[in-house]
Amino acid sequence: MDYGQLLRDARAAAFVQQGRGRSADYIPALAEADPSAFGMALATVEGVVHGVGQWEKPFSVQSVAKVFALALALAEGGDRLWRGVGREPSGNPFNSLVQLESEQGIPRNPFINAGALVVTDRLLELTGDAAGAVRNFLRSESGNPAVGTDDSVAESEARHGHRNAALAHFMASFGSLRNPVDSVLAHYYAHCAIAASCKDLALAGLFLARHGIRVDGSRLLSRSEAKRVNAVMLTCGTYDAAGDFAFRVGLPGKSGVGGGVLAVLPGRGAVCVWSPGLDAAGNSVLGVAALDALTTATGWSVF
Ligand code: GLU
Repeated sequence: MDYGQLLRDARAAAFVQQGRGRSADYIPALAEADPSAFGMALATVEGVVHGVGQWEKPFSVQSVAKVFALALALAEGGDRLWRGVGREPSGNPFNSLVQLESEQGIPRNPFINAGALVVTDRLLELTGDAAGAVRNFLRSESGNPAVGTDDSVAESEARHGHRNAALAHFMASFGSLRNPVDSVLAHYYAHCAIAASCKDLALAGLFLARHGIRVDGSRLLSRSEAKRVNAVMLTCGTYDAAGDFAFRVGLPGKSGVGGGVLAVLPGRGAVCVWSPGLDAAGNSVLGVAALDALTTATGWSVF
């Protein structure tokens, strides 16, 4: 299998869409990113990684971190997590407040911001350092000790994060959080602001392709838990466009407003693509197009 050629072909197919995306600007520190920058990495379950473009350049992982936080919260605390957060697509924007009122402070799923704040809260309770747990996991799975939080991005988020603060306070009013709101928000921003490359994230996502097994051979999640994380990625991982992502790409995937998309090829590997130009739903235009081209060319969707 010529993985390098597959990735080059996917990039070429994606670039037909060049110029159609815009970098996120609601977090000022992300607005400077070049919307047509592009990198893509594919790691196989054997741990071999192939890449094209800027696949070793760190970018702001943003909501891609939510996958790792969820997996760690499940690994540390088990099924109890699902008492505080659901697993249905929300049908609303990722930072929406509206459902929380009628659903008594229980977020629809762990990948909208409200749900990720609950996951962060639980991970903080379980480990004492939610952002550190995610950072350490990414470092050990990628083998890259340089993976770390970009403090300027975290500060920029905190300064402009009125919606996240509103979500956290609103949930606290329902008793949905166990830690002080300020601590939950600080850990949430710090894990969103982790800078990692496509190579790092593809390697770190391999435990989901290996049905729960980490790089050192130890088990993080049971097979059933890994299936569940993949299922929530498929149904809720790409904002309000998860249906379209399943339709086009057909893989469990999680995107972030930094332009990254991590997708899992169960039993085969993990792919991460990065390009900061986003569509109206918040997904990377070139990233989704490249994954669409990859699964169309190979038949590697889960369907
Ligand atoms: N830190 C971002 C926020 O809370 C994450 C958004 C995202 O990537 O979906 O708005």
